[in-house]
Amino acid sequence: MSPGLTGKERASQLRTELFFMNDIQAEMTQKSGEENRQEIRFVSTRGGAPACTFQEAMKQGLAPDGGLYLPDPVPLLPESFWQTLSGRTLQDTGAEMAASWFSDPADRERIREVARDAISFEAPLVRLRENIYVLELFHGPTLAFKDFGARFMARAYARMVQDEEGELLILAATSGDTGSAVAHGFFGVEGTRVILLYPSGKVSNLQEKQMTTLGGNVTALEVDGVFDDCQRLVKAAFSDSGLNKELRLSSANSINIARLIPQSFYYAHALGQLQQQLGSTVKPVFSVPSGNFGNLTAGLLAMKSGMPVSGFLAATNRNDVVPEYLETGEFHPRSSVQTISNAMDVGNPSNFERILHLFEGSLEEIRRHIRGSSWDDRQTRECIRRVWQQEGYLLDPHTAVGVLAAEEFHRESGNAGKPVVVLSTAHPVKFREIVEEETGQEIPVPERLRECLDREKSSRKIGAEYESFRDLLLEITR
Ligand SMILES: *Cc1c(COP(=O)(O)O)cnc(C)c1O
Repeated sequence: MSPGLTGKERASQLRTELFFMNDIQAEMTQKSGEENRQEIRFVSTRGGAPACTFQEAMKQGLAPDGGLYLPDPVPLLPESFWQTLSGRTLQDTGAEMAASWFSDPADRERIREVARDAISFEAPLVRLRENIYVLELFHGPTLAFKDFGARFMARAYARMVQDEEGELLILAATSGDTGSAVAHGFFGVEGTRVILLYPSGKVSNLQEKQMTTLGGNVTALEVDGVFDDCQRLVKAAFSDSGLNKELRLSSANSINIARLIPQSFYYAHALGQLQQQLGSTVKPVFSVPSGNFGNLTAGLLAMKSGMPVSGFLAATNRNDVVPEYLETGEFHPRSSVQTISNAMDVGNPSNFERILHLFEGSLEEIRRHIRGSSWDDRQTRECIRRVWQQEGYLLDPHTAVGVLAAEEFHRESGNAGKPVVVLSTAHPVKFREIVEEETGQEIPVPERLRECLDREKSSRKIGAEYESFRDLLLEITR
């Protein structure tokens, strides 16, 4: 263990009472024995909806009272699990974590299979420099961490609810990236069909190829209009009661609890890899490039289930409502501003509600575990350039924001010796232009991406009026 890592001594040095949670951890670990196999219900953050099972929460997405689902209680994993992560595979770790969310033995077995099948790629931890590690979450099919959530949810749907109710039709309007993660997530999953709507001529060539070359159960509709038209068509379909009698529609959107669960797996896997390098008592800080704060919320769920962790850095670009909240205690959602880390351009992060709920609304508690850190485009570009020059490692703009937060944390007194794991949310090739501008390096296109660029685009053009979209949906599903 690094000498700087023990409780009280460190806490006194910190500006706020951040990251002081040895006691909490000990308390939680003790309880885990008794609470084994307790049934886990899912409750709404707004408290106005009945508690339900995982399957129901997944089907609904948003709770009927407008809140978001969270497990109650967060299932606890025994101390022995957290102490023996080193050397275990991401798939084994994920399967055990997923099973902990269920009490029924058949469900536990099914969800283990879901986890193993969904997480078909790796999440290696790379040492960037002394005490800064990068957890590469971009080895999935669309080269971004959203593959974890999308693939897991697709398979959970197919295995846990599909048997009951026939084919599921996922509708997704997309301006580029989310659509391709959802499409790849559900691609080839039996009992599901995906319809993507994207604005014609308004997505990048790579994004378009990722959406239109899959075939199979994925249909891409090229809408003669803008993104808002795509979204309007999808919304109209969801509120068309006649259509909903004929088809089982779902949005698979990012607030779904089924997308958060698999995102906690890689926190544990990062810890395991770190234990291998630094010993079994290591308690890292995680730096999380954040937009909607799903990723960070998944880390909190891992912590609540017993993961040894010193705290989290909420790393944002100029869309800094959460760092501002941590600083001032006031939450002021506003319109987003455009930045080069555009997947984090969120002005009203939906998972903020979950974070509040997990800490029972206590600002003080939240501050003990999460510290905010926000950066502008100039600083982000500078970081990409500097890390390439110093370490020869390519960062995408989102990951760079996470590295900046880690460096800031280390500059504060007493923190330099604490290991920080930066979650790397996207492959640098996805933001090729910016990264090439800053580093002067040509980024090789990974094999799986090149394949899709070579394939023929297949899409159906449609107008922006609802009637023809409706007819098409019925035709496709016949
Ligand atoms: C979605 C996304 C984020 C933000 O993740 P949240 O869970 O919304 O906070 C960060 N980086 C990339 C590349 C993303 O696609």
